Amino acid sequence: MTETELLFTRVLGCDRMALYLNKDRRLNRDEVNFISSALKRRIKSEPIQYILGKTEFMGLEFKVNEAVLIPRPETEILVATAIEYAKREKFGRILDLGTGSGCIAVSLAKYSTDLEIDASDISGRALETAGENASAHGVGINLIRSDLFSALGYKEYAMIVSNPPYIMSAEIGKLQPELNYEPALALDGGADGLDFYRRIIREAPDYLKNSGWLLLEIGFGQKPGIEKIFLGSGRFEIAGIIKDYNNLDRVVVARKAD
Ligand code: GLN
Repeated sequence: MTETELLFTRVLGCDRMALYLNKDRRLNRDEVNFISSALKRRIKSEPIQYILGKTEFMGLEFKVNEAVLIPRPETEILVATAIEYAKREKFGRILDLGTGSGCIAVSLAKYSTDLEIDASDISGRALETAGENASAHGVGINLIRSDLFSALGYKEYAMIVSNPPYIMSAEIGKLQPELNYEPALALDGGADGLDFYRRIIREAPDYLKNSGWLLLEIGFGQKPGIEKIFLGSGRFEIAGIIKDYNNLDRVVVARKAD
């Protein structure tokens, strides 16, 4: 849907088709007020998803607010890949590191069976949002407040999935103004954007069972740098790199070497 359609379907509580079929419907005062305040916010570059308080991901509705990154369509590739690997073998426990809105963990729980899913985040408000999204979709995930692995006790994950912050610090203010509304904590990947990959790849082997999987979303142009980090660690084999809808390298699948 276009942003206008998103706004009007929300205000009128109808679907897209009804919007076009009921063309003579007049807006009442409250509806006009909602739309005009939404427009004022949107003009200041606030993302429509924050204005509406929700977005769609993997065909599911997710509550979002300024404590969490707005789920991106590219991340669906990470989830689809995780589901595929989870189907391949009998799976144990999975960790979604830096869960934010919980979009990855909740979709995994929704579309796979027999998975136990832990979802961690450094932000308490993000975890609250992830918890609300899990309840809204009727799935149980274990929420853990942790700076990456620091507070995690389980050490035998079958898979760790993460979409870590990966934008270069200096780039953040220069990109689209909408990004200023998203938490820096969810975007800032340090000077070269790779800080979190370095930490995750260094620490993940201690939390994965042998031959366990590490699936990471990566940003534009980051593949060579990340391959180097993996190579340097000597603890993983890269099993595949998956491209997104724009033919850009988007997901790295690595397996812990025994
Ligand atoms: N896991 C969440 C997502 O993919 C949050 C990621 C983040 O904040 N970097 O949307």
